[in-house]
Amino acid sequence: MAEKKTHFIQAIIDEDLAAGKYGEGVHTRFPPEPNGYLHVGHAKSICLNFGVAEENGGICNLRFDDTNPTKEDTEYVDSIQEDIKWLGFSWDDRMFYASDYFEKLYEYAVKLIEKGLAYVDDLSADEIREYRGTLTEAGKESPYRNRSVEENLDLFKRMRNGEFGDGEKVLRAKINMASPNMVMRDTVIYRIARAHHHRTGDTWCIYPMYDFAHPLSDAIEGITHSICTLEFEEHRPFYDWLLNSLDFDPNTRPKQIEFARLNLTNTVTSKRKLRQLVEEGFVAGWDDPRMPTISGLRRRGFTPAAIRKFCDEIGVAKSNSLVDIAMLEHFLRDDLNERADRVMAVLHPLKVTLTNYPEDKKEYLPADNHPTRGGKRFLPFGREIYIEREDFMEDAPKKFFRLKPGGEVRLKHAYIIRCDEVVKDEAGNIAELRCSVDMDSKSGGKTANRKIKGTIHWVEKNSAIPAEVRLYDYLLTTDENGNTPENFVESLNKNSLEVVTALIEPSVKYTAPGTHYQFLRMGYFTVDLDSEPDKLIFNRSVGLKDSWAKVKDK
Ligand code: ATP
Ligand code: MG
Repeated sequence: MAEKKTHFIQAIIDEDLAAGKYGEGVHTRFPPEPNGYLHVGHAKSICLNFGVAEENGGICNLRFDDTNPTKEDTEYVDSIQEDIKWLGFSWDDRMFYASDYFEKLYEYAVKLIEKGLAYVDDLSADEIREYRGTLTEAGKESPYRNRSVEENLDLFKRMRNGEFGDGEKVLRAKINMASPNMVMRDTVIYRIARAHHHRTGDTWCIYPMYDFAHPLSDAIEGITHSICTLEFEEHRPFYDWLLNSLDFDPNTRPKQIEFARLNLTNTVTSKRKLRQLVEEGFVAGWDDPRMPTISGLRRRGFTPAAIRKFCDEIGVAKSNSLVDIAMLEHFLRDDLNERADRVMAVLHPLKVTLTNYPEDKKEYLPADNHPTRGGKRFLPFGREIYIEREDFMEDAPKKFFRLKPGGEVRLKHAYIIRCDEVVKDEAGNIAELRCSVDMDSKSGGKTANRKIKGTIHWVEKNSAIPAEVRLYDYLLTTDENGNTPENFVESLNKNSLEVVTALIEPSVKYTAPGTHYQFLRMGYFTVDLDSEPDKLIFNRSVGLKDSWAKVKDK
């Protein structure tokens, strides 16, 4: 069994188990609404729900909370399953749909009516809102509130049978219109909506509301701890009222526990906003590598281990806060540092001719694949190579230890070279460097250990492969406190994607999508889903600089 964490939810569970509640053990659920793709906030909830079950020897269900037919789709149902599995969690054979319970939920509603605890209301949506009162002012009772049980039963049945138009009537809980808690002011529990449901088709024209369906779905499945985010705190009294009213044993019935949702800087974690980005074409799709969706993160090159470690590290708290996205990147960098082989790729190529290197000479130089894991490959070397444009400076300051006119630099895994001549095109741009090689300076040679301050990466001209490299930046810009304006579209980063044609060493040619690399000195990159040997595509997963580690150690 995985080790227990030490958050307040675990403390509640410990207390419950010590008191002998829940003889069958801890039973949680992850309840996504299939109206979009999962995002990193959901990952937090998945890690918490599946994690807490596992750590306490219990089980966790996957339940699709599909009570809102107009926005739901099987595309989302499929992607949600794929994402949870990819994160490394399993619901075994416990995949459920709230819509599976529609008949049972209807029966519970009938039971509430029979107990005099629910009534059919004819007020319009606007009137209901008006009658509800405000935080400082009690609500007003509906003129239909005191219908007889018989009349309510008859009307509710006729609602189900389709005798009334959409919105013409609703079923409401009968609690207290003067309650200080707005949710307790006779909350609506059923509405009429002629909407096609992705699973039940046109069987139903009445649908239960979340507040009614969720606690009962929990109770039907034998959930013990129903973990949700803070915005449901004021719904908890209704959760308890409903289950008590329907005679569920207070000692074994589920209890709702709220925790703070994950908010990240420089991005959005709301399905509604993510959908807007997709639908209005700001990104290429739900799995665009700039998106904080699980599928976007996966495509970007995130690993399940990195996301899970991040979720463990941010912990579980009772108050909302904003997490720096640099922290998420930190865990990816850490994980890829172990996982990713090192290769050389030049993102902005500058041609270099090695004037004293024989024209017909060709070498294969051995290079380590990883600093600790070892493994080697050969790098072709020849008279013409490319280096990174930014590794050369014509008017270099004193502290510039890469290549400058007359200066020397070491080519990683190869020779020391000296820049003798800068060749420019008609427009005055640097087109090529002509350099000489210290032929004794490669590994094992007489001058191999000569002291040279800078080492740069390179690729050999004839063997290098062109590849599309997508350099991603944050989706949103934020102010110094990490906040974005209410209308988040205003703060979209217009430079969140830069595409370059890079030149990469030939060893990567037959690499498969999803493979991670460190491009020496340039960052971690992952082979894109659409990449093929003749059309390589890489996504920058994360840079090498760890800004979060710096903040953390301050
Ligand atoms: P959104 O606001 O993005 O639409 P949601 O809460 O409506 O999110 P659901 O599909 O209902 O999305 O969420 C499934 C579960 O994931 C819920 O228990 C919800 O509380 C949790 N969850 C959603 N967003 C976050 C988040 N940012 N941090 C932690 N948990 C989250
Ligand atoms: Mg929701």
